[in-house]
Amino acid sequence: MSQNPPTEPNVPVQDVDIAIVGGGMVGASLALLLSSLNLGWRINVIEAFPMTPASGDLQPSFDARSTALSHSSREVLEMLGLWSTLSPRLAEIKEVHVSDRGHIGNTRLHAAEQNLPALGYVVENQWLGSVLMEALQQAPGIDITAPAQVASVKPIRGGVQLSLSGSEVSANLQAKLLVVADGAQSRTRDMLGIDATTRDYGQVALVTNISLQQDHHGVAYERFTDSGPMAMLPLQPVENEYRSALVWTLPPERVAEMMEASDEVFLAELQDRFGHRLGQFQRVGTRHSYPIRLITSNEQVRSHVVVVGNAAHSLHPVAGQGFNLALRDVAVLANELAISASNDDLGQLSVLQDYLKQQQADQKQTILLSDLLPKVFGIDSSPVALARNLGLLALDMVPLLRHQFARLGMGLETRGAPQVAKRTSAVGRQNNG
Ligand SMILES: Cc1cc2nc3c(=O)[nH]c(=O)nc-3n(C[C@H](O)[C@H](O)[C@H](O)COP(=O)(O)OP(=O)(O)OC[C@H]3O[C@@H](n4cnc5c(N)ncnc54)[C@H](O)[C@@H]3O)c2cc1C
Repeated sequence: MSQNPPTEPNVPVQDVDIAIVGGGMVGASLALLLSSLNLGWRINVIEAFPMTPASGDLQPSFDARSTALSHSSREVLEMLGLWSTLSPRLAEIKEVHVSDRGHIGNTRLHAAEQNLPALGYVVENQWLGSVLMEALQQAPGIDITAPAQVASVKPIRGGVQLSLSGSEVSANLQAKLLVVADGAQSRTRDMLGIDATTRDYGQVALVTNISLQQDHHGVAYERFTDSGPMAMLPLQPVENEYRSALVWTLPPERVAEMMEASDEVFLAELQDRFGHRLGQFQRVGTRHSYPIRLITSNEQVRSHVVVVGNAAHSLHPVAGQGFNLALRDVAVLANELAISASNDDLGQLSVLQDYLKQQQADQKQTILLSDLLPKVFGIDSSPVALARNLGLLALDMVPLLRHQFARLGMGLETRGAPQVAKRTSAVGRQNNG
């Protein structure tokens, strides 16, 4: 627990129902879900970076990355009324092509085979960020405190007391429920004395956009190479230029080289690793790197406290599941809070435990999938390479297996994820009369 004084002296204490620390992809989505329930809750989102869509100072959650959205995420974003705004700048994933460099096995998953318009959708984080920010400004019951940080946190009877600090902010908040959504390196989690388990994969994700010679036709490529997995996700064309978003997992020393390489050298190396399925690569955008660690919070709920998003579980990005899982989590959380809204004790431990009980299987399964893929494909001994190539071949040849694999990736193979969105929106409609 923090040794800091619990509140700023001589600063009045403001009462709110729900304080969300971290206005990133997950904190912002949860705030909107809670507001859409129309239960009259006063929600305060506390964010370290400025939260205006036009701000040049980009929030880390809404940087140059792109995110593959699953069907369960689409349902939640539809329920929030944001899908139609996001749509014009989303790329549909019509097909996923999984392959292993230097080996024969590969598999293709088709949207048509799953009777779906798309297997998923790719959104640029900056676009998702500006749509979420715009919605937050309009949503009833939401106040934004930004840029600000939590200086100290103290559990009190029936809630939590926070003191906030920032260049223009000095405030004390008293909240019935504290949502910790300040990312993988959560300071708020630390201040609460909640430990996290960290496993370093010894890999770094290099992220950038690549301009293509030819149309990607909505194909997402998942390619496993001896230096690490690589994903190329289709993006919407800009000014008639076809583009894909690259996530290339590499050992740290190799990333340093590739970050510093000239554009020509970078593109040549990438082409060598990826092949010519997308033709000759034309241009590379700004490169960014992210160390890859599996971080799981050792506790996710306490009385009047819940830890969500990357603060609860930060996954290997290879399977593109972190945000999708977190969105399913917060949809279930919002639903549980709505169901128990008549009960005076917002943030009651039993309600938060019910939430966690419902999401435990989904979390376990998704974390396992994200952890297993890079491990299995990272081993280059011949029996393992043979087994995984047989696996890919089997996946390609057995439609039922492929169907199951696709459903898992789309977030449909988890306990009632799409139904959660429907239930949450039903509660919202009831409350809207
Ligand atoms: C390379 C890469 C590719 C990915 N691709 C996918 C994908 O395709 N699909 C998918 O589902 N997921 C993907 N993910 C995972 C996804 O990005 C995360 O799940 C998501 O960003 C988690 O959001 P968050 O809001 O929990 O945390 P963050 O995005 O880390 O946001 C935390 C927020 O809290 C703020 N903050 C931090 N500290 C404080 C503080 N003390 N006080 C106040 N505010 C604070 C930060 O400024 C930030 O805005 C990918 C991740 C990586 C690294």
